[in-house]
Amino acid sequence: MDHLMAADGEKTSEPPALVPARMVNEFIYCPRLFHLEWVQSRFAISDDVEEGLYVHRVVDEASSDLPDPDEHLERFAGRKSRSFWLSSTELGLTAKLDIAEVDSAGLVVPVDYKKGAPDPHGKVWDTDRIQSLIQALLLRDAGYPVEQAEVWYNETRQRMTIDITDQTLSEVREVLIHLHEVASDPQPPRPLINSPKCPRCSLVGICMPDEITTLRPHEKPRPRRLLAADPDNRPVYVQEQGTVVGVRRGRLEVFKEGQTLASYRLIDVSQLCLQGNITVSPQAVRELMAREIPICWFSYGGWFAGMAQGLPGKNIDLRKSQFTITSEQQTAIASRMIEAKIRNGRTLLRRNSRNLPEHAPGQLLDLAKQAAEATAAPSLLGLEGAAARIYFSHFTSMFIPDPPVQTDRFDTNGRARRPPPDPVNALLSFLYSLLVKDITATLTMIGFDPYYGVYHRPRFGRPALSLDLAEEFRPIVADATVIQLVNNREIRAHHFLQKAGACQLTADGRKAVIGCYERRMAHEIKHPTFGYRVTYRRALDVQARILAAHLTGEIPEYTPFTTR
Ligand code: SF4
Repeated sequence: MDHLMAADGEKTSEPPALVPARMVNEFIYCPRLFHLEWVQSRFAISDDVEEGLYVHRVVDEASSDLPDPDEHLERFAGRKSRSFWLSSTELGLTAKLDIAEVDSAGLVVPVDYKKGAPDPHGKVWDTDRIQSLIQALLLRDAGYPVEQAEVWYNETRQRMTIDITDQTLSEVREVLIHLHEVASDPQPPRPLINSPKCPRCSLVGICMPDEITTLRPHEKPRPRRLLAADPDNRPVYVQEQGTVVGVRRGRLEVFKEGQTLASYRLIDVSQLCLQGNITVSPQAVRELMAREIPICWFSYGGWFAGMAQGLPGKNIDLRKSQFTITSEQQTAIASRMIEAKIRNGRTLLRRNSRNLPEHAPGQLLDLAKQAAEATAAPSLLGLEGAAARIYFSHFTSMFIPDPPVQTDRFDTNGRARRPPPDPVNALLSFLYSLLVKDITATLTMIGFDPYYGVYHRPRFGRPALSLDLAEEFRPIVADATVIQLVNNREIRAHHFLQKAGACQLTADGRKAVIGCYERRMAHEIKHPTFGYRVTYRRALDVQARILAAHLTGEIPEYTPFTTR
């Protein structure tokens, strides 16, 4: 069966030669799921997967080996061998068998443990049947006589038998040929269309079947809401200087001088964000890395200084695409991002400005249209600059007449950073840092290199791709938070320190800003492209995955996030 393993010289992704038999189940459920998990190494632990792992704990304790196949196996009748690996280069497969039993006739029977129940007709599910047949084939390949395989369903406590016939064996071989073809292709198969399998799929949030299908030409299904509107976990921010962050009994705990200041269940934490002098215990670092929870550091002044994470994302094909796209492709993506930034800024002004001159929205719309058509980075830069001048010249018109902080200095200074000279600039700088931190964490988790962008140039310490993706979200997330903070009087003059020409937020000021920013990220909106309701936090994740799908060639163009 060498033809199963043949690699096409043109194809770039070559996963390890032996595919685990459990992956065949994924393949039968959906070839795309198999590709995402096996070729791209993208996993998500769902409740189903956790429960499956729990059921397997019974058989995951290895016990005595099977007797040698050359022995008189009848003498070993009743012997059970648990949790052991078998491989076959001929089949291109490897499998961990739950149990193999020797029966009274000296035949070996593989028994596969399943957490669920038989299918609605009381039969073995097709995927389970194929997996058991593969185990039987592997045993035969190792020289054992096998004529039956069995499946144990834990929910109904039923043991069901599968006969091995020439017909079932050729069926399995057909499946394996198709599986190895898919495994040798760097491009995943297309998502299933409107399939009832997707809502139960553990990778639905990574695959985004309906979203990818919607963005493909000529395929316009109505996207179902398959993702929760908001992710379950949240960033934890620690600002109290001199505190220590540790882990204890599945919780992240913040201590100072022997006292627990805060405690969070680790499953509720999406990031650990530290400001200034905070110590993280080695145990906490290890645990966070194992759970793929990034640790983000900010300087005391609020500058996003860096991030620690576990091993880099395994989606190597995505990074290859990121580094090999042409400058024309980069400009095409950047032009849509800048178009969206200008349009979103215009929408924010139209919604909130108290005295916006009539011509301003029209000017911004013209610039957005020109940005969408731009074919070179310098002209895009010029259009972005022109739009920013108009936008920021009317920025303070969105504040209430008697604001709680001095906003008029922004009219004189305009947008200025490093250091921000006035309260509005200080708020914008800190909020852009928070946004870039969230985008960097999201991009890294998906498998991008956040330092290689399509618009911003790579420079030491600058996550260029995060800055690119931040463009379309700046007005509607960060700038909108500034307006909310000021107009709701959540920020006051005493939340700022003025030192040597620089305006800085105090610790209490940063706390107020973080609270308001997190509320904004949790704010639900109707997704402009897919029509379902999502929070900005989810929208950001979806947007990063759309960018990934475009870079890897799944969808022909990048569609930015533009509010109406
Ligand atoms: S979400 Fe649907 S299309 Fe995507 S991998 Fe899962 S089953 Fe396949």
